[in-house]
Amino acid sequence: MYGFLVEIMDPAEILNVRFHFGGQFIRIGPSLDYVGGETGMSKIERDKLSLQELKGFLGDHMTVKESMKYYFQLPGRDLVNGLLFLHDDGGCMKMSDYITEGGVGEIYVEYNGEEEEQGEIDSGSDFEDELDELMNIGSEEEPDAVITAEDCSAEVNDNVNATEQTGTAGEIIEHIFVPDVGGAITRVINSPLKQNVRVDYPTQSSQVLNVSQPCQAAQDISGSVAKVAENGSDSEDYEYVPHTDDSGEESEVVEMRKHARKFRKKMGDSKMWADADATGAVPIDLVANVEEVVEDMEFESSDEDYSYDEDEDGNMVRRKSQFVRFNPDSDIPHFSLGMVFKSKKQLTRAMKRYGLATKRSISFLKSEEARVRAKCDWPGCPWMLYAAKTSRCSRFQIITFEDEHQCAQNRDNKLVTAKVIAKRYEHFILANPLWKIGSMKATVMKDMFADVSISKCKAAKKLVLDQLMSGMKSEYNKVFDYQLELLRSNPGSTVAVCLDPKEKEENIFQQFYVCFNAMKQGFKAGCRKVIGLYDCFFKGACQGELLDAIARDANNQMYPVAWAVVEKETNESWAWFIGLLIKDLDINDQGAGWVFISDKQKGLINSMRDYLPKAEHRMCARHIYANWRKKHKDQKLQKRFWVIAKSANREDFNYNKAKLAQLTPEGAKDIMKTDPKHWARAFFPIGANCESVDNNLCESFNNAIIEARFYPIISQQEKIRKKMMVRVQEQKTKSEKWNGIICPNIFKKIKANIKRTQFLEVLWNGKDGFEVKHLNSRGMRYIVNLEKWTCSCGYFQLAGLPCCHAICAIYKSGRKVEDFIDKCYYIDTFKKNY
Ligand SMILES: [Zn+2]
Ligand SMILES: [Zn+2]
Repeated sequence: MYGFLVEIMDPAEILNVRFHFGGQFIRIGPSLDYVGGETGMSKIERDKLSLQELKGFLGDHMTVKESMKYYFQLPGRDLVNGLLFLHDDGGCMKMSDYITEGGVGEIYVEYNGEEEEQGEIDSGSDFEDELDELMNIGSEEEPDAVITAEDCSAEVNDNVNATEQTGTAGEIIEHIFVPDVGGAITRVINSPLKQNVRVDYPTQSSQVLNVSQPCQAAQDISGSVAKVAENGSDSEDYEYVPHTDDSGEESEVVEMRKHARKFRKKMGDSKMWADADATGAVPIDLVANVEEVVEDMEFESSDEDYSYDEDEDGNMVRRKSQFVRFNPDSDIPHFSLGMVFKSKKQLTRAMKRYGLATKRSISFLKSEEARVRAKCDWPGCPWMLYAAKTSRCSRFQIITFEDEHQCAQNRDNKLVTAKVIAKRYEHFILANPLWKIGSMKATVMKDMFADVSISKCKAAKKLVLDQLMSGMKSEYNKVFDYQLELLRSNPGSTVAVCLDPKEKEENIFQQFYVCFNAMKQGFKAGCRKVIGLYDCFFKGACQGELLDAIARDANNQMYPVAWAVVEKETNESWAWFIGLLIKDLDINDQGAGWVFISDKQKGLINSMRDYLPKAEHRMCARHIYANWRKKHKDQKLQKRFWVIAKSANREDFNYNKAKLAQLTPEGAKDIMKTDPKHWARAFFPIGANCESVDNNLCESFNNAIIEARFYPIISQQEKIRKKMMVRVQEQKTKSEKWNGIICPNIFKKIKANIKRTQFLEVLWNGKDGFEVKHLNSRGMRYIVNLEKWTCSCGYFQLAGLPCCHAICAIYKSGRKVEDFIDKCYYIDTFKKNY
């Protein structure tokens, strides 16, 4: 068709254009380049020329997107100072004027693929709001030890130089590609130049960029980049690096973070109220205990075996009962005639809860061994309940029940005792010992509709604080008893109590370590040799720090192995903790083959050097980022940082670091202040089956137990123990419903990788393996070796999970993906963990 046109048309009426598309504007040194992509020629009739027409012709070469931008390169000029933004038909006419007969108009297409990328970016865990959270935690921490990379600085410079030599750009650009929602590899990201145009010249139809001043252009670009970042309105310079998606622990990490954030907010808000000289009521959602419901459940499990019988074969069968059983899980207890309770205690507790919830004062008239009679205190109100022990067993049954109140809510509710008040506001009082009694009284009125006396409020407060004080005094004396009790009830566990060596005679407790046998055995039965180490402070009136060692289960979720209470995180306390850990987990050969992930605690680093010199020591990239960001605040650098940390091979690492250097040479230098072997995937040794660059699982543990950190040692340890035991049980139950071979979080990752394979092609396979090529991008190629379980992208061997390239090769060879997933991710392994 076009050929025909050309033949009959006057050549002067034809405009030759060369589209450059699928590439990206990249600033290299003082010059601007359009790297990657392809070119395509079109012949356009000059008198029909319009922006729409231009897009139509581009459509012959590629799929045109609405958000694409077009630039015309003025003849004889460089990209850096000679681009004309084709914004409307006028711009196109101007272009036509520049191109004489026989000349070719060079048009550069820019596309940053906003819509397509969004899903991919959101799935990452490393972005903003969570880091704010990290900042909060960070403020409690001591400054980092500085670990300087020995020989990395030389390497940095080499890399930057390598990029500046444009000759190498050809290899580098192969790594830039962007998947859309469906995993399709669309192309091109964006460039500083585009932002310049958009921000500085949004209303002008077309604009020649700094035709005469290349230096000025560079400044404008950086200035407008900053502006864009401030506005936060523009899409970022996102870039896809294979397998940056999270390590699968996500859901729990996020859940725990939410839990802790909610708790911290509550504590912060409550402090505001308590500090004010207020007599007003504190908002109710601030005062009620977060964990109240959980504690209730311990007493009243609905799953009691009294409703089961054994059949002839010894199987448990649910007993059919003609009577309704009491449901302890409902918010307001509900009663009915004939209802059965498992004990008298359950019944009286239920009635108290009922009275508190409905604001009725219920009193118990007759409280004998075998019967209970309760009535509403309001004069003349007919509500009453009578229950007695049944003949069959110790169960209680409602015999008489009058469910009608002829009363109003009772301000004089006798059920609201000092003890009830103490229990309900325990956390608030612990966190705010200076809470004013007047405000407390007003709060009880608003919250429980009970007009209690000042002295009752004082008594309640005293109860909580006395318990805390006596706890702090007596609990420390009882540590040895607690140690014995734990050892008795958990045989095989390690519970170590360390005395203060300076006060030997006094038996002053100094440190407490516990590693439960269940966790120890579960760890040895199938956890990878990957341990996160962490420390956090106690809260409230209690002094001390908690050290913990958190492994990961087969489903990539936290698996707390051991924890310890110490006065302070120091060289000595870490050495002591690590020493016990080495013994409990049978860590041999100075830690060879083990991975430890931590923040940058000085004492810990020293202990690692002294006791585990052969272990791999990763340092949480979130932590490193948080420090780096103090100096390099620009929001858009955040993504750059993570892309670098998660690049799984040196080439990608160097390339992405060079790209960062384009934005901030100083930032790229600073990033290397911590040796990348501690935080960048590309430098991690192979063999641990863990690609994680962060210490999120430790953070999760500490978020999960945040309430416990307000209590003195034994109460605290009991709360942690219970919480962890409940979790073990939950994990066990959860896994019974799983089907297949691979744990669900892992399967999710595999599914994502499988999806990516639709845009890959196996080029050849020989005895050494497969070469796999990306179809839609610039044809990046990777070598997969299925015998050795490796891919040159670096991910397969690091994670023990096949990357998209490996999966592609697996399919090609007619084998099964499951056969290339390490057993550490199997459901069977998970079941051994718990
Ligand atoms: Zn009543
Ligand atoms: Zn790969």
